[in-house]
Amino acid sequence: MSETFADRLESVEQRIKAACTNAGRERDEVTLLAVSKTNPPEAVREAVDCGLRLFGENKVQESQHKLPMCPSGLEWHLIGHLQSNKAKVAANLFQMIHSVDSLKLLQALENHAIQTLPVLLQVNIAGEAAKYGLKPDEVAGVIEEANRMSRCEVHGLMLIPPFSPDPEKTRAHFSNLRKLRDQLQDETGTPLPELSMGMSHDLEVAIEEGSTWVRIGTDLFGKR
Ligand SMILES: *Cc1c(COP(=O)(O)O)cnc(C)c1O
Repeated sequence: MSETFADRLESVEQRIKAACTNAGRERDEVTLLAVSKTNPPEAVREAVDCGLRLFGENKVQESQHKLPMCPSGLEWHLIGHLQSNKAKVAANLFQMIHSVDSLKLLQALENHAIQTLPVLLQVNIAGEAAKYGLKPDEVAGVIEEANRMSRCEVHGLMLIPPFSPDPEKTRAHFSNLRKLRDQLQDETGTPLPELSMGMSHDLEVAIEEGSTWVRIGTDLFGKR
């Protein structure tokens, strides 16, 4: 990629806008999370200069080193698998955790958070054997537990679908997550406004199916 960060951001922004228009949604219903994992602080600074302030990382250890070297006043979201023994560090490093995939992890975050911590529950909607995520039928129970907690707040669901180069093949997983969310809202009476789904190659389909957070790495920062 020879374009500048600003060029790449402009092109991602155009795609998000077009997808919102197609879906009859407002642009401000979808938030762009810039996935800066593996990229150095200089790349984050360039993104900040282009007006971004919401960043996603997938590893606690990498973030512990990187975040102090990045501009202040940014919001950092964890999007990768988190081990319970790193919950204390994560609860104090990140403003939101997209990848809560067990009750044990949620309890560890609750124990260590010192203020309100918004989280999303990662669901293994396709039932893949080697993937992290709650089984669809476990989610309601975790939401009920979370409703008794004082710091962790479940704001919605997150999905990492099975990879397919053809985004249309992923559409059913996105719509299944949305349907599960609708069902859980009815069942638990808990508002679940956020759906974190869609990455560089499939953001259009995700937005058409109701995504509120698209997590974009490659098409902003270049190939890792
Ligand atoms: C790396 C990553 C992304 C970004 O993927 P791209 O294809 O580079 O846009 C999104 N979500 C998660 C969970 C990731 O680990």
